[in-house]
Amino acid sequence: MINRREFVASAAAAAFAGGQQARAASGEPWYRRAYRWGQTNIVEKDPVRYDIGWWRRHWKATEVQALIINAGGIVAYYPSKFPLHHRAEFLNGRDLFGELTRAAHNDGIFVMARMDSNRAAEDFFKAHPDWFAVDIAGKPYRAADKYIACINSPYYDEYLPGVLREIIERSHPEGITDNSWAGMSRESICYCANCERKFHAKTGSALPRAADWDDPAYRKWILWNYERRIELWDFNNKVTQTAGGPDCIWSGMNSGSVSSQSRSFRDMREICRRAQIMMLDHQHRDDDTGFQQNGDTGKRVHGMLGWDKLAPESMAMYESGPGYYRLASKPAPEARMWMIAGIAGGIQPWWHYVSAYQEDRRMYDSPGPVMRWDKDNERYLVNRKPVATVGVVWSQRNTDFYGRNDPGERVDAPYTGFMHTLVRARIPYLPLHIDDLEREDENLKLLILPNVAAVSDAQADVLRRFVARGGSLFATGQSSLYDEWGDPRPDFALADLFGAHREGATPKLQGTTERQRGTRDRSTPDSHTYLRLTPELRGKVDGPEVGDEPAITGTRHPVLKGFERTDILAYGGTLMPLRVAPGAVVPLTFIPPFPTYPPETAWMRQPSTNIPGLVLSERGKSRIAYMPADLDRRYQHEHLPDHANLLANIVRWAAHDEIPLQVDGPGLIDCHMYTQSGRTILHLVNLTSAATWRAPLDELIPIGPVKVHIRATGQVNPSAQLLVSKGTRPVALSAGIASFEVPSILDHEVVVL
Ligand SMILES: [Zn+2]
Repeated sequence: MINRREFVASAAAAAFAGGQQARAASGEPWYRRAYRWGQTNIVEKDPVRYDIGWWRRHWKATEVQALIINAGGIVAYYPSKFPLHHRAEFLNGRDLFGELTRAAHNDGIFVMARMDSNRAAEDFFKAHPDWFAVDIAGKPYRAADKYIACINSPYYDEYLPGVLREIIERSHPEGITDNSWAGMSRESICYCANCERKFHAKTGSALPRAADWDDPAYRKWILWNYERRIELWDFNNKVTQTAGGPDCIWSGMNSGSVSSQSRSFRDMREICRRAQIMMLDHQHRDDDTGFQQNGDTGKRVHGMLGWDKLAPESMAMYESGPGYYRLASKPAPEARMWMIAGIAGGIQPWWHYVSAYQEDRRMYDSPGPVMRWDKDNERYLVNRKPVATVGVVWSQRNTDFYGRNDPGERVDAPYTGFMHTLVRARIPYLPLHIDDLEREDENLKLLILPNVAAVSDAQADVLRRFVARGGSLFATGQSSLYDEWGDPRPDFALADLFGAHREGATPKLQGTTERQRGTRDRSTPDSHTYLRLTPELRGKVDGPEVGDEPAITGTRHPVLKGFERTDILAYGGTLMPLRVAPGAVVPLTFIPPFPTYPPETAWMRQPSTNIPGLVLSERGKSRIAYMPADLDRRYQHEHLPDHANLLANIVRWAAHDEIPLQVDGPGLIDCHMYTQSGRTILHLVNLTSAATWRAPLDELIPIGPVKVHIRATGQVNPSAQLLVSKGTRPVALSAGIASFEVPSILDHEVVVL
C-alpha cells in the first residue's frame, strides 16, 4: 500500500513529467533556475550498456539541475514514428531518451532534449533529394557518409518541426537544444532550387557564383543567411512552445568565439536578444586565448543576454585540446580551471562526456568538486552586475566584413591581445557590442577599439557622442578606416577624434589576407622594426617629407612611464605617415626596418622618422589615444611584456586612472568584479601555472598573499568573506578605498564585501 509520503513524491514526479513543475513557486521559469548542467553525449553503442542507475547517482553527486539528453536528428534514441529518422544502431526498439528523461524528472532534474539536426543518411537523401544542399555543379554536399540538409528546405520547415513535436509529446522535456541548428557554414554556398528561389525573391539577385566579399550579391547572401537563422530560431520556438507550453523553449547551441559564430551565420547579439537561456558549446581553451577567454565569453554573452539570464556552457571532461581523445580523461586541473574561469564570467558549468560508458573513469571525478562548490555558493554567482570602467568594443559585422577570410589575424588577435593586457594589468573590463554602447556607457570612462575597422557612419556618431559626453577613447590599427561593408574610407571615420588623418589612398581589403608581416617569423627583414620613445612632440607633426619641424619639449609623456631606461621598443609591424592635428602629442615614432642577419648589419639605417606610432589628444574631459601601431595584435602573437605594459599605461591614462580595483602581489590573476544587492563580489582566478600558455594544465600552483584595494561605494562591512578558502579577512577603509589581504589562492577565490 502506498503511504502518503510516497504518494506526494510520486504525484510530484508525475506533475514534473507533465511539465507542470517547469515554473516554481517563485514564478521563475525552469530556465532561470538551472545553475548546473550535465551531458552524457550518447553514442550509438550506448543503448546496450547505459547504466541509468549509475548515472542517477552521478547526477546527484555532481548536483546537476538540468541535463542535455540526446533525442534525435542524425540519430534517434527513441522509436520515432518517422521512418527515415535513423535509429541508433544498437537501440533495438528501446526508448532510451524517454527512459532517461523519466529518470531525470523523477530526480527533480530538468531536461533539454538534444537535437543534432542537419545531416541524414543516404536513404533519406534518396527519398527527398530536393531537401539537401548542393554545390554549384548540383552535387550534394557531404559530411563523411552523411548528406547535409539545406536550411531553406522543407527539412527545416516541415520535417524537423514534426520531430520536435513528437519528442515533446512523447517525453515532455522542458526544452530543446540543437547542436548544429545553423546548417552549413559560409564556406559552402548552396545552389538548391529552394535557395535559388528564396534568395531571388528576397533580394532580386541570383545566388553569388563564388565567395567574393566585394560582390554585392555575396554581401546580400551573407546577410540573407543571417536572417534565415534568426527566422528559424523564432520558428523553432513557436513549434516547441505550441507543443509543450510557454516554457518549452528551443535554444540552439552557440560558440563562444565570434569568428566561429560568423562562419555559421549565428548573430550573437540578435540571438542573445531573443534567447531565454544561452546554450554555449565552447568546450575548452586553446593556447592562444587561455582560460581567461572563458571569463571573457561569459561577460560578452551576458552583456547582450542580460545578467539575469543563464548561459550554461558545455565543458569537456575528455581530452579536447591540443590532442583530441573523446574517451581519455582530460587532466582534472585543466577541466577544473576552464570551469572556474567560466563561472567567474557568469557562465553556468555543464559537464560533458562522450558516451555513457568510460574505461578512463578518472574523468568522472573531475567536475564534482567545482559543481558542489557552485551549489554551496550559487547565490553569489548569478543575478549580479559587473563593475568596470573600461569597455572593449567588438562587432560581429566587423568580423564578417573586415575580417573576411582572416578574422583570426585581423579581428581576433588585436581583441585577444587587449584581453590579455587587461587581465595581466588586473583592470576589470567589459566586452561591449558596438551597437550596445549607448545602453552601457553610463559607468564607462573609456572605450577601447582594438582594430575595429569596419564601422558605419551611425556607429561612428555613437562613439563621437560618447566622447562629447566626456568619455575617453583608445583605438588601434585601422579602427574606423573602413565602412560597414569593409569598403575603404578616404580617412578614418573618427579622424576628428583621433587627431590623425590618413595620407594617401586606403587600400582595398583582400578576401584572404596579406598576413601581417613578420608574425612569428623573425627572419622576415620587414618585421625588424622599432618604435622610438620621443620627448613630447607638440604642435604640427606632419609626415616625414612635409611640414614643420615638431617642437620638442624634452619631457616624456606619462604613458611612457617605466621605460626610462630605453629610447626604443621592439615593434615588428609597419607604419604609414599620418597627418597629425595641431595640439596632438606623438610619444612614439616609427623606426623603419633594417637587417637582422648577419649581425654586423643590424644597425638602424634611419634611426628616426616623424611617422607616428601613437597619437594622444585631449578635448575637455576626454582623452583620446589613437595607436596606429598594432601592439595589441603584436602582444597576442609575441607576448612582449613591453607591449602589454605600454597598452596598460595608455588605458590608465585615458581612463584618468579611474579603475575601481587594484590587486598587488605576484602572479597572473583574472579579476572579475560584480555588485549584487549592495554587496561587492570579487572573483580572482589564479592563472599562474606552468601551463598558462600551453594546455594541458596538470598542477595548480598557489599564489599569495594578494593585497586588494577596491574603490568602495557606500557602506563597507569591516570583514570580507572568502567563499573558497572559507574564512573572513579584516577590511581597512581609507579615503574611500577598502583594502584587505587574501593570504593564498590555489585555483580561485571569491571575496564578498
Ligand atoms: Zn539550399
